[in-house]
Amino acid sequence: MSRFLSENYSKLIPYTPGEQLNEKVIKLNTNESPFPPSPSVKQVVTDDLLDRLKLYSDPEVKQLRNAIAEQFGLEAENVFVGNGSDDVLAFSIMGFCGAGGKLCCPDISYGFYPVYADLFGVELEQIKLKDDFSIDINDYIGKGCNIVIANPNAPTGLALTVDEVEKIVASNPDNIIIMDEAYMAFCKQSCVELLKKYDNLMVVRTFSKSHSLAGLRVGFGLASKEIIEDLNKLKYSFNPYNMNSVSIAAASAAIADNEYYNKNIDEIIRVRELTKDLLSSLGFTGTDSKANFLFVTHPEFSAEELYKELRKRGILVRYFSKPRIDRYLRITVGSAEEMQALTDTLAQIIKEVKE
Ligand code: PMP
Repeated sequence: MSRFLSENYSKLIPYTPGEQLNEKVIKLNTNESPFPPSPSVKQVVTDDLLDRLKLYSDPEVKQLRNAIAEQFGLEAENVFVGNGSDDVLAFSIMGFCGAGGKLCCPDISYGFYPVYADLFGVELEQIKLKDDFSIDINDYIGKGCNIVIANPNAPTGLALTVDEVEKIVASNPDNIIIMDEAYMAFCKQSCVELLKKYDNLMVVRTFSKSHSLAGLRVGFGLASKEIIEDLNKLKYSFNPYNMNSVSIAAASAAIADNEYYNKNIDEIIRVRELTKDLLSSLGFTGTDSKANFLFVTHPEFSAEELYKELRKRGILVRYFSKPRIDRYLRITVGSAEEMQALTDTLAQIIKEVKE
């Protein structure tokens, strides 16, 4: 740390992203898609678009906001676009809870929520998940506090139903409820329909998982016109050109290609269910994940050891050395071939240890 860093940030513990190695590995550690982006994305990244990079991008992000609005049956005024959904979450937590406000979230959830709370001076109450890692909605009903919930939750993969979310939203009318639906495409439901009824709900989505565009960095928030105006006020006070022209064009093309992405999503769900069975035949147990990852534990083997052994053999999964989840591995659902390699390698490791 230099002697120049403001004291406000000297104790900040930043988020630790999953490893991004250049070596050839089977990468099942950051919940990316095993499929390439839709062919329509490649078509829009033309020489002409690259030449236009000499100009600033559209600060209003009209093309992409219109394309997203059309998909969700909303208006562009209901859409805020960010540089990854992390950007959208950051603006939201800063804007609606910042400097002295309060935020509640589950104790086991996306690791960025506590980091943002810390960064923006927000008091954070982490509410304990039940022992089976599910959320008890009674903990959130009438809580009188801003709330962020990943649905499905990460790293557990467990999802609340739309009815359960509605109870939380309806019972906290004076607080903002942020539903982070980064993984919702793999669960095939959504709280977007509740936006017509409630002005205190924001739904956050990303192109990083189901739409195979993690490297493009595009996410979005859907909410009332007034909430989106607030987010734009913050954006225009920080970085009006937060979306670059390539991201705007590529994501606009991607979101229109439902046929391509629905096929990929269905395949990931199929492989997820198949892998659950294969892992269970090896003695693993886990949550009934509705996301594009599995959260599993083995009664006889330490998760940390399995993580290290897999890594040595060229397979990256995610291990969190945190209380309550340090016996678990989070494994991204890759292609059928990748998951076969994973389960074969785990079977081999188990066999070697037992011999
Ligand atoms: N929310 C959750 C629950 C996540 O797991 C992630 C990805 N790590 C994000 C948001 C952020 O995704 P991105 O910034 O790539 O849109």
